[in-house]
Amino acid sequence: MTSTIYRDGALADGRSDRLQVGVTILVVGGSIEWIRPSDDAGETPADAEIVDASGTTIIPGMVDCHSHLTLPGGAHWIERIDDPAERLLEVAEHNARLLTNAGVRWARDVGAPRVEDPVDGRVRALSLGVRDRWRGQAGYPYVTAAGTWLAKTGSLPGERMVEADDAAQLLQLAIGQLDDGADLLKLYLDGPERGVAPWTADEIRPVVETAHARGAKVTAHTSDLAGARVGVEGGVDALEHGMELDADLAATMAAQGTALVSTLAIFRSWASFGTTTSIERFTEPKRRAATRDRQARAEESVRLAHAAGVAIATGTDFGGGSTRANQLAWEVECLVAAGLEPWEALGAATWRGGELLGEPDAGVIREGGPADFALVHGDPLSDPTALWRVWRVAWAT
Ligand SMILES: [Zn+2]
Repeated sequence: MTSTIYRDGALADGRSDRLQVGVTILVVGGSIEWIRPSDDAGETPADAEIVDASGTTIIPGMVDCHSHLTLPGGAHWIERIDDPAERLLEVAEHNARLLTNAGVRWARDVGAPRVEDPVDGRVRALSLGVRDRWRGQAGYPYVTAAGTWLAKTGSLPGERMVEADDAAQLLQLAIGQLDDGADLLKLYLDGPERGVAPWTADEIRPVVETAHARGAKVTAHTSDLAGARVGVEGGVDALEHGMELDADLAATMAAQGTALVSTLAIFRSWASFGTTTSIERFTEPKRRAATRDRQARAEESVRLAHAAGVAIATGTDFGGGSTRANQLAWEVECLVAAGLEPWEALGAATWRGGELLGEPDAGVIREGGPADFALVHGDPLSDPTALWRVWRVAWAT
């Protein structure tokens, strides 16, 4: 078994505001053998490769809790959903490299086009075949995948999701996603009419109960308050985006353990398109102002959730939004701008995500655990932009 010593780095695990300096880690065969003070590391294997980690901070491999592995993002991200399946599988390969090089170990895929998979011929969400084929492959992220989007008819453009006309059909489609192999369900709780929830809490509760009985979680896309209320009352495990929360709903979420997965960076991404594209949606002054308003409301929602004690995990929304697979650091910056302490924002991008996945080693650095950590330049506990400066990922070198 190969041994590697990461000598004399700093360590930030997202659990406290204290940066530990002078830390040495021994990795043997892909597991963390020990973590010791550099000046008291004791015996080290003579044949170990030594990595001079000085000047870097060791962080847990990050967890992108809102990703769309088969989609590329960009200013035309919605059109890309209709690209040929072969192309989308190439995109997923590219995204795997981007994620890994950005220090992201886990990706929670929350929606993929439902088409015939050119590799295995199955008609199901493309993310499921991608997940199955990447499993156990060195250099690929670990994947937990929802199937496709479960929406009310008329809520989403295109035809590559599943849509229900009524609650009975919704339940049947949900069961179909579980039968296809989905690890979790993604309910789309923006309805055809903005500000009006597509279902009632009573209508989604059977979906939640059915999924839970089969060991799967349910998460809900909600951009407005109406959908968020229905999701929380209906018992979903998490809200995605949650851009219009209020204090009452945040208190309920905290009390019943509903997590929030923030996706604030998409607004900064859209703002950047205002000068880098000529697409009216992004350049027109009124639309730009509307984006700024939505961003402010979304940041306020994160503040309310944080103040109420809601568990906050986070994601880029790459592919299903305009961001890219290597931009989770941007989201951490956004969380800090919204009022989280940098260590809390790092926690959101690491162990909080692991908790949401139900994976005890995801986003965690511990003796005896997997060597799933990355080395970044700078101190992410005082400067979240350090997370952009990934130098080395221990699981892929
Ligand atoms: Zn999304």
